Amino acid sequence: MMERMDLRPSFPSTLYVEVAVPLPIDHPFTYRVPPGMEERAKVGVRVLVPFGPRKVTGLIVARVDGSSLSGREAKPVLAFLDDEPYVTPRHLTFLSAAAGECLAPLGEMLRAALPRGLPRKDAPPAPRTETVFGPAEGGDDGPATPKQRQVLAAVREAGEISAMDLSLRVPGGADAARRLASKGRLVAMLREKPAVFSAERLPDMSGEITPTSHQEAALAKIGVALASGKFAAFVLHGITGSGKTEVYLRAVEQVRQTGRQAVYLVPEIALTPQLLGRVASRFGGEVAVLHSGLSPAERTAQWRKVRAGEVFLCVGARSAVFSPFPAPGLFIVDEEHDAAYKQGEGIRYQARDLAVLRGKMENAVVLLGSATPSAESVRMTRTGEATLLSLPERIGGRELPGISVVDLSGRSSLRGADRYFSPELESAIEETLARGEKVMLFLNRRGYAPAITCLDCGQTVHCRNCRVSLTFHQQQDILLCHYCDSRTKPPERCAACGGHKLAQVGIGTERLLAWAAKRWKEARVARLDSDVSRRRGAYGEILSRMHSGEVDILVGTQMIAKGHDFPEVTLVGVLLADLSLSFPDFRSSERTFQILTQVAGRAGRGDRPGKVIVQTFSPEHVCIRAASRHDFAGFMEEELAGRKALGYPPFGRMLLLRLWGPKADRALQAAQEVAEALAEPVAAMGIRLLGPAPSPIPFVKRKHHFQILLKMPERFPVGDFFPPLLRPLRDLVRKHGVRMEADVDPYHMMV
Ligand code: ADP
Ligand code: ZN
Repeated sequence: MMERMDLRPSFPSTLYVEVAVPLPIDHPFTYRVPPGMEERAKVGVRVLVPFGPRKVTGLIVARVDGSSLSGREAKPVLAFLDDEPYVTPRHLTFLSAAAGECLAPLGEMLRAALPRGLPRKDAPPAPRTETVFGPAEGGDDGPATPKQRQVLAAVREAGEISAMDLSLRVPGGADAARRLASKGRLVAMLREKPAVFSAERLPDMSGEITPTSHQEAALAKIGVALASGKFAAFVLHGITGSGKTEVYLRAVEQVRQTGRQAVYLVPEIALTPQLLGRVASRFGGEVAVLHSGLSPAERTAQWRKVRAGEVFLCVGARSAVFSPFPAPGLFIVDEEHDAAYKQGEGIRYQARDLAVLRGKMENAVVLLGSATPSAESVRMTRTGEATLLSLPERIGGRELPGISVVDLSGRSSLRGADRYFSPELESAIEETLARGEKVMLFLNRRGYAPAITCLDCGQTVHCRNCRVSLTFHQQQDILLCHYCDSRTKPPERCAACGGHKLAQVGIGTERLLAWAAKRWKEARVARLDSDVSRRRGAYGEILSRMHSGEVDILVGTQMIAKGHDFPEVTLVGVLLADLSLSFPDFRSSERTFQILTQVAGRAGRGDRPGKVIVQTFSPEHVCIRAASRHDFAGFMEEELAGRKALGYPPFGRMLLLRLWGPKADRALQAAQEVAEALAEPVAAMGIRLLGPAPSPIPFVKRKHHFQILLKMPERFPVGDFFPPLLRPLRDLVRKHGVRMEADVDPYHMMV
């Protein structure tokens, strides 16, 4: 009798993998691993997979056996792009959790978190050599432009300096040096590039610094937490100049002793040249710095060094929270209150919150530092989630400047400059200049005038693509939309009535500069805002002019408020404190308090006392009164009480669903259907649903915007509850030709 044959194949059942693709799709896709390739199908490896008619790069996020698959055969993986995981499984776990918190598809989170998204090919290796300049015999003789003279001096002083360092010191310095070298007035050499990091090193004073008793106390607590190897969060509250950075650097030293790594987040890396100098002098080359000036190849190279643990510190802006260190033990978030930590488009993650999340997952210490801690962080210190550390005094005991508030409301009938230069501010500027000291004038609006209005019919010139008025930028002679960036020539006549009397209404930094230059003809004036700094090297150029005392009046936006230390500035004028107050956003009061405190901190940093004048139409507003008294505690008590009464963060969570599309009726219908679908399930959880309603700016970039706001109790598990609800809704809105974006705990409520 014949034996019955087993016809099933003898090899184990087919292996499948779940692959995340960098597209706005909520779930991973299942692919079949070709026989014999099982070994290569590791979690975290990049793969090439068929996707509709295309091939895309994806990342393996899980291995699965086929038993759970429905009958349909999965497509095969076409190629495995890595031998070893491109993203370690441990890091992938964090990125998945982060995606969940942000209600974002994992694939999109990968695109945001990895150096160049999920590239199919690796970037070419970063160049290994760099140009170095040295002095040449007789090079200083002969004619030279001012820039060339600066370059010659810098090279002479340094002895030898790389092109990159030279450009940091003298804007455009590398190009000037190349020209000088071609004339034989400098020597140019090619040399091997140093491993990672080179910044102008400041002399390392750490050996001479004895921590103050407050710093000592803070470091002791941080040290105990680091040694325990468990999660702990600290809020380091200290006014500017109280020694916070010194605490951060020593904490980094502490974590280094434990063999783990540190991530150091700053709001904007370009605005921190002094910090980079301090880091370089203390830690030398074993540091990665992620900044926007890196080429893709350099970025990838940095990322690999971080992943391999070849460096122990990574400094960067918000995306550095994704640094793939093997064992991060410390996350520092400097100026943790800064709105720059919230990503403003795409995946709207909040890097500070992700640092806390990752700290918990990694059993790491999280250190949130600020002169004006956010309501969220203060709340954490009250609930016991974080420990408060205080540095209540300035190093060297310098006093905070006196702040006086000037009521502008009596001046609204005045025209032109008189409206914005109160007699108090005017005489303070005069006195300051007469003493040979410097002035900073702060106005949080760039351009010349925020509106162009017809004096005959009252019409304001609007953007074609957005329902907002256009800002006049005099230097470029254009009308610019601050929402879609479209630019048009200023019209000769009113489009509505044909009238010729078009008035520039209101004030921006350009106009403020023009008025200041006209009033104080002898004074040397300069402006610093994002229009100026966009020009390559302009930012560094103005800072170095400020440092060498060549600017008497510096006009600017928030950019002048951040971090700088100009000892000769003894007067800071805030032209219109109300600008940040008028946003339809529950954080506007807090933000105004923070800005005023930060700007005020620029005055009187040298040996002479500083003075601040705050002009406002709302002198009685709590944030202005409190800021003028340096009363953080008083402000925060009122702020927290107000938020609690309304259930706003940190006493509740919010989810803003934004929907937009080219047709208003379809966008509204999609929004209504989403709201209807959500109504019952969210009501059952005690969640309030508001809307749909048109967004505060309902028409942007030719799209109609609507929003739905959901208000949840504190600690509501947003990442668990919403994804299954939202998944079918994404398909629903897509059928209407509408896009939908989820913004958890939103900051930018405008669009
Ligand atoms: P913050 O970050 O709070 O603005 P920093 O850490 O930058 O403060 O300190 C301000 C200045 O005081 C820096 O120049 C720093 O080197 C110096 N400094 C910090 N701590 C001490 C200390 N314990 N003794 C002397 N100087 C200090
Ligand atoms: Zn526009």
